[in-house]
Amino acid sequence: MSKEMEPEGMSLCPLGTAANPEPELLCIFGTGDLGRSLGKRLLQTGYRVVYGSRRPHSCGPLPLGTQVMSHAEAAKSASLVFTCIHREHYDFLETLAPHLKGKVLVDVSNNLKKNLYPEANAEYLQRLIPGAHVVKAFNTLSAWALQNGPLDASRQVYLCGNSAEAKQSVAEVATKLGFTVLDRGSLSAARELEDFPLQLFPEWRLPLRLAIGLTAFVFFYVLIRDVIYAYVEQGKDISFRIMVSLANKVFPIVSLIMLSLCYLPGVIAAFLQLYRGTKYKCFPDWLDRWMLCRKQLGLLALCFASLHVLYTLIIPIRYYVRFRIAAHTISQIKQNKTSEFDTTVAWYTDSYYAMGILGFGLYILLGITSLPSVSNALSWREFSFIQSKLGYLTLFFCTFHTYLYGWNRFLKPSTYKWYTPPAYMLGLVLPSLVMALKLLLLLPCVDRSLTRIRQGWERTDPEDESQKSLLT
Ligand code: NAP
Repeated sequence: MSKEMEPEGMSLCPLGTAANPEPELLCIFGTGDLGRSLGKRLLQTGYRVVYGSRRPHSCGPLPLGTQVMSHAEAAKSASLVFTCIHREHYDFLETLAPHLKGKVLVDVSNNLKKNLYPEANAEYLQRLIPGAHVVKAFNTLSAWALQNGPLDASRQVYLCGNSAEAKQSVAEVATKLGFTVLDRGSLSAARELEDFPLQLFPEWRLPLRLAIGLTAFVFFYVLIRDVIYAYVEQGKDISFRIMVSLANKVFPIVSLIMLSLCYLPGVIAAFLQLYRGTKYKCFPDWLDRWMLCRKQLGLLALCFASLHVLYTLIIPIRYYVRFRIAAHTISQIKQNKTSEFDTTVAWYTDSYYAMGILGFGLYILLGITSLPSVSNALSWREFSFIQSKLGYLTLFFCTFHTYLYGWNRFLKPSTYKWYTPPAYMLGLVLPSLVMALKLLLLLPCVDRSLTRIRQGWERTDPEDESQKSLLT
């Protein structure tokens, strides 16, 4: 138990003097989870900490070396106060307004839902205590992250407030605690900061929905063509193939479509710029959002490709495969038959595997370079070389791998069960389209125009020009 009660009337100096340099004293209102974690971390960093509590004599165990007293007394003792209290209990702070005048009040609160209150918690706090300088900060960190420090969790502290000096003093504390400070401007940004912790992977939402939708569609497509067709037309139950064979058809198709979806918006944007003759017009909102989630699309595509690799690796140990190889060998022995070595088939299968391996290798490279720690170490040119040039090469290898999978099967009418093309053919449409469009963009005359537009050149509208000349 670490309560060191100060004797009545004893004054606490917020800042150490030159003769007796004492660590700065900071105040925390509330001895709950966040208050305790923050206090512990501040103590470890060298600050002195005083708690303001409703029950200074009976609150739970506090970090060793801290003091606890009434809110009013604690407020008087420090120039910077963290309010580690839920917004619903802020009302009592109004009575402390005289003690908090001119002080920096750090609002760390969050809400359970968006738009729960008409104004942001920090703005409400500022309204309750107009004489204080309210700064919204630390709300995006959990008590756990604060206790463990920035090495083990989020490193960023977002802050906003109307007073530059107040923000500066909070930023100094955050920096000493080892966090990176991101200033989001005035207190009107508080609502945005309060909404941050309520967001659940916002930039992953669209790519995840797309991945789930595509997986469901391709799965049902192959289920109908493979399992249901065999049952209806041939009376065979091959439903056991759902677990591995069907899954291993779905994953590569979804992966390839998602990879081409990473590159399609860039191609559309280029054609839009060519059509408009300028780069200074905004892209449509849907295209902007699509381009912003390319990294997530690519990472999901890599996940599906990795699943495909894992599923492929277990093929030789599958009971069904071993059974079929053994049955085939035995039947050949019984019939005293031998198969001739076919060089074309050897070329085709080896090329098929080689394209897959090369494609997957580059896929991993793209995934690694999209990690912030790696991409931060690359120059813009290096990053765009890997993500664009090597990205297209990845798309090419993977598409070629799929074409080789099809080989000459597209010529056989038996592959078009119930007049539907095999699923891999559907998977080839988008990547082939993206590569064809990219090849068009690489044509020297097109590439030259696009480069000029991207360097700032604009095609003027002849109608505008004639109107201009009429006016002059
Ligand atoms: P908590 O564990 O419930 O602690 C809240 C503290 O507020 C209590 O320990 C109590 O301290 C004080 N309190 C409770 N009722 C009160 C009342 N009626 N009047 C005055 N004070 C009262 O909550 P917490 O998890 O520490 O969260 C505190 C604030 O930090 C919240 O606004 C939360 O949104 C925010 N936050 C929390 C986390 C987290 O990871 N926990 C992360 C980010 C932000 P005394 O008994 O000492 O008075």
